[in-house]
Amino acid sequence: MQTPAHSGMGALLSYASERALAPGTLVRVPLGAREVLGVVWEGEAAPLPAGKSVRAIAGVLDGIAPLDGHWRRLVAFAARYYQRSLGEVALAVLPPQLRDLNPVQLARRLRRPATAHTGADASSLIALSAEQERARGLIDTNSGPFLLFGSTGSGKTEVYLRCVQAALDAEPVNAIAPQALVMVPEINLTPQLQERFTARFGAANVVSLHSGMTDAQRLKNWLAAHSGAARIVLGTRLAVFASMPGLKLIVVDEEHDASYKQQEGARYSARDLAIWRGREQHAKVILGSATPSLESWHASRPATDGDPGGRYLRLHMPSRIASGDNAGSLPVLRVVNMHHQPRRTVFSAPLLAALQERVERGEQCMVLLNRRGYSPVLHCADCDWKSDCPHCSAHQVFHRIDRTLRCHHCGYTVRVPRACPGCGSPDITAIGQGTEQLEEQLTHLLTGVLRPDGQPVKVARIDADTTKLKGALQSQLAQVHSGETDVLIGTQMVAKGHDFRRITLVAAVQPDGALFSSDFRAPERLFALLLQASGRAGRDAQYVAAQGSRSEMWLQTFHPEHALVAALRQHDYPAFAAQQLQERRDAAMPPFAFQALVRADARTQEAAQGFLQAASDAARTHALAGLEQVTLYPPVPLAIQRVANIERAQMLLESPSRVALQRFLAAWQPLLHATRSQPEHKGLVRWLVDVDPLAI
Ligand code: ADP
Ligand code: ZN
Ligand code: ZN
Repeated sequence: MQTPAHSGMGALLSYASERALAPGTLVRVPLGAREVLGVVWEGEAAPLPAGKSVRAIAGVLDGIAPLDGHWRRLVAFAARYYQRSLGEVALAVLPPQLRDLNPVQLARRLRRPATAHTGADASSLIALSAEQERARGLIDTNSGPFLLFGSTGSGKTEVYLRCVQAALDAEPVNAIAPQALVMVPEINLTPQLQERFTARFGAANVVSLHSGMTDAQRLKNWLAAHSGAARIVLGTRLAVFASMPGLKLIVVDEEHDASYKQQEGARYSARDLAIWRGREQHAKVILGSATPSLESWHASRPATDGDPGGRYLRLHMPSRIASGDNAGSLPVLRVVNMHHQPRRTVFSAPLLAALQERVERGEQCMVLLNRRGYSPVLHCADCDWKSDCPHCSAHQVFHRIDRTLRCHHCGYTVRVPRACPGCGSPDITAIGQGTEQLEEQLTHLLTGVLRPDGQPVKVARIDADTTKLKGALQSQLAQVHSGETDVLIGTQMVAKGHDFRRITLVAAVQPDGALFSSDFRAPERLFALLLQASGRAGRDAQYVAAQGSRSEMWLQTFHPEHALVAALRQHDYPAFAAQQLQERRDAAMPPFAFQALVRADARTQEAAQGFLQAASDAARTHALAGLEQVTLYPPVPLAIQRVANIERAQMLLESPSRVALQRFLAAWQPLLHATRSQPEHKGLVRWLVDVDPLAI
C-alpha cells in the first residue's frame, strides 16, 4: 500500500501476492512505471472476484519483520488526526533508505554484526534527592501520563535515567525485550544527554534517530529499534514514529519546546502523539520541563472541589540539586527600566558595568537577542526608502560582515547599495540591532577590559549565521566550555539546554517585542526562553559560591511592571501560568478551545482568500457534521503576507470540542479537494490544514 503524497483521501491500493503476507510486511510494488516501497495494510486470503485483476507485488523485504499493529495504528491515527493520507504519513516516517535501496542492497545492510550487550553501569549510581525519589516512586506506582515539573538543574535527567532503567528491567512480554524512547527537541544542542545515556546503559543499547544523521545511519538505527536490538532510542520529534515493539516508556524532555511540532507535510505534534502512543501501547509517558506548555500544565491540574483535575499526574521538583532545599542558587533578576536610559541605548550603563565586573573576575556571560544580522532594516531619512525585499512583504536584513542585504524569508540577497536606491542620498542608516551589531558594539564597549589572566576580553557570537558549516556549532560551543569565550552573544539557539558551568550572568537586551505580539502564545514562549536562559546562569552552584558571587538574569525593558517580569523575578512559573490560563479561559483560547488552520498559497491574495471562502461556503451549504460546534473565521492574510512572490492567506477554525472539530475536518476534507479542483481556483498554488497550530 502506498499512495502518492497528494492523492487526497489516500485510499489503499490492492496488489496480489502468491504468498500470504502479514499486515505490516514491507514490500516492493509497481506503481505506474516505477517500483516503490509499500506496506501491507490489510491482507485477504480470498481469491479475487472473477473479472477483477490487480498487479502483483514485485517483492517482499524479507529479513525485516512486519511493522506491528501498534505502529500501524499510530500511523493511521496521525494521518486521520492531522488530515493527511495514510500512505504519505507511513512513508514519510520510515527511514528514507527503506524506500531507496533495492532488496539486494538492503539485504547487505541487514547483515550487520551482532552487538555485544553491555549492561548498565550501576556502579556510578548516585543517591537520589528526596524530591527525585518521590517523583520516581510516583512514576513507578502510577500509570501516568506524568508531567515532571522540575527547575533547571533539579535533576530531571537523573529521574529519566532511573525510570528508563526500571522499564528495561521489566519482564519481557512474548519474548520481546522492553524498550524506552527518549525525545529531545534538538539533539545537536544536547550532546550531554546522549553522553549520560550511553555512559549509563552502554553505547550498544542506545541508538539515536534524528534528521541530522546520514540516511545509512538512520536506517541502521531504525532497524536496531525495530528488531529490538536497541533498547533505548534517543531522538527528535521524528523518533515518535520509531518502530519499537517492546516500548514501555516514553520520555519527552523540554516538552514545551516548539520543535516538537512538525511544520511541513503532516504537521504533527510529537508530544501529543507520544501521549496517544503511550496509551495505545501501554507505555508510561513522562513529559518534563521547567516551563511546561500551558496545555500540559492545564492537563495536569490537581483535582479541586467541582473539578476532577487533569488527566496527567503532576510531579514537582522545585529545588536545584546542588543547593538542596535552599533556592539560593537561582539567579537574581535585575531589571533595567529603559525609560530611564538615554534614547537608543543598546547596552545600559548598569548592565555594561555588570558584564565588565564578571569578566574581570573570570566569569562568563551570555547576551541574548533573537535577531541575527547587523540590523533588521536600512532606511533613507531623505526619501523614506527602506530595504524591502522585492519578493516578500518583509525587510531585507543588513549583514555587515559581507555587506549584503538578505531576506530571511526567501533568501534573496543583494550587495548593500552605496547610496539610496530611491533618491541617491548617501545617507542611509541601519535601524535597530541584530546579534552581529551587538557583537561589534560590545567588543568596542569592553575594549581594555582584562580577564584575571591578563588577556583581553573575548566576545563571541553563536547564531544561525556563524554555525552554517558542519561542526561549527560544536567547535564554537567548545570554546565557551573551555573558557576561551568570556561573553557569548546569541539567539535562542544558545539559551536551550547547554550546560555552561561558568556562566553567571545572562542578559536579554530587547525582549519587549514578544510581550505585545499578536501571537497569543508569545508571552508563554518568552517566559520559557527567559527562565531557561536564566537556568543557564549559575548551574554550578559550587563554582558560583567559590567565586563569592551570585548568578544574575538581566532584563532591559520598557515594561518593568509587566506581570511576566514579576513572575520571572520570583521564578514563579505557576503564577505566570495561572495568569495566562485565566486570560486564555476568558478569551476561549487553547487549552480551553481547539483550533485548526487552513492555509492557502496563491499568486494573488484574492485567489488565496477566494479558495478559503469557497471552501468555507461549501461547508455551510453541505451543513457538515460538527459545524454547529465549530466557528469558521473569515480568511485573512498571514502576518508576512507574501513570501517569494507567493501570497499567503489563512482561515482559523475553533471549537470547544476536539471531537467536534475532528468530525468536522474529516467531513470537510473531500469538499476542500473538490473546491481545489474547480476551474475558478486553478490559481491556487497549494493548501494545507494545520491541526493544533502553534502560531496563528
Ligand atoms: P535537569 O535535567 O533537571 O536540568 P540534571 O539531571 O541535569 O538536571 O541535574 C543537574 C546536575 O545535578 C547534573 O550535573 C547531575 O549529574 C546532578 N545530579 C542530578 N541528580 C543528582 C543527585 N541525586 N545527586 C547528586 N547530583 C545529582
Ligand atoms: Zn532616499
Ligand atoms: Zn524575500
